[in-house]
Amino acid sequence: MKTLQELTRPNIWSLKPYSSARDEYNGVEASVFLDANESPYNSPHNRYPDPLQIDLKKKIGKLKDVDVEQIFLGNGSDEAIDLLFRAFCEPRIDNVVAIDPTYGMYKVCADVNNVEYRKVLLDDQFQITADKLLAATDEHTKLIFLCSPNNPTGNDLSKEMILEVLDKFDGLLILDEAYNDFSETDSFISRLKDYPNLVVLQTFSKAWASAAIRLGMAFASPEIIHILNKIKYPYNINMLTQKHAMEMLHRHYEIDHWVKTLKEEKLRFEAELLKISCVEHIYPSDANFFLMRVTDAVKIYNYFVSHGIIVRNRHNISLCMNCLRITVGMRNENNSVISALKEFSKMEDAQ
Ligand SMILES: *Cc1c(COP(=O)(O)O)cnc(C)c1O
Repeated sequence: MKTLQELTRPNIWSLKPYSSARDEYNGVEASVFLDANESPYNSPHNRYPDPLQIDLKKKIGKLKDVDVEQIFLGNGSDEAIDLLFRAFCEPRIDNVVAIDPTYGMYKVCADVNNVEYRKVLLDDQFQITADKLLAATDEHTKLIFLCSPNNPTGNDLSKEMILEVLDKFDGLLILDEAYNDFSETDSFISRLKDYPNLVVLQTFSKAWASAAIRLGMAFASPEIIHILNKIKYPYNINMLTQKHAMEMLHRHYEIDHWVKTLKEEKLRFEAELLKISCVEHIYPSDANFFLMRVTDAVKIYNYFVSHGIIVRNRHNISLCMNCLRITVGMRNENNSVISALKEFSKMEDAQ
């Protein structure tokens, strides 16, 4: 691995971050707070929230078995993705490598930051070799993005491939584990100690059922986390979000139960869909959604819309011709999809 200083943009490496009133005061004795120009009314919403979210990170750290210094919290994973570009990629000079197809935000953030985005096509099993990924890199490649389970394909990427990239790549590997809670594969968080070039992304938006609060997590070495903390907005996680996340963490047994239920329901949902004639294939899924190839994705998508059912049309995405991406919902919601598709099929067969 290159040194972190070599990987970081020089202006970011030397940046002196904004120091807020809450940063500068960290004693415990005071009871009069007249340092931040807050209103004394409307407690507790009058006070700025903890800029480093220490209580919440302690709780997350305990659950994930990592130190507080290895956790960055962002306004969704999307904030962490954007900050990684801003910290490490010099616009118009550096580049990043990612698999194709994958989550769309990596490319959007690359474009916003004027950073070259290099795609490497997955094979027909939606896998890739380390050699193929590394062949797309050069001395200006700062980040490789891998998403496992991958969106929109739904499958875990090979663990051996990820380890090989970690061993051989001299930049940072960003491993997006947004759907890892649904997978049988262990998170790579436990390998952070062995790989200083690893950044793992997770989120409260999927299994934790809290997309509305916008809370994403990045786990990495304390040195990498320090850089992200330097460039984030001072109060990027609001108090209501921190509070809700704490409550969800207290309910983690309930989340485990939701995950188990959704995984069982996914199997039933898939089995029912496979009985319908316009369904050609359902790709193996390690997530809470699956990619389904049908006879005519655009026609079926529009048919669903006309029946008030919204799925994701992935027909125009690489390797996803005639594919719909369907999230596993409540049983009655999934049954609506099954009924509508049966009706569509009957109509088509009659023609
Ligand atoms: C949904 C999703 C996320 C979550 O993003 P948030 O900003 O945390 O809501 C991250 N990565 C992937 C691949 C996703 O599909």
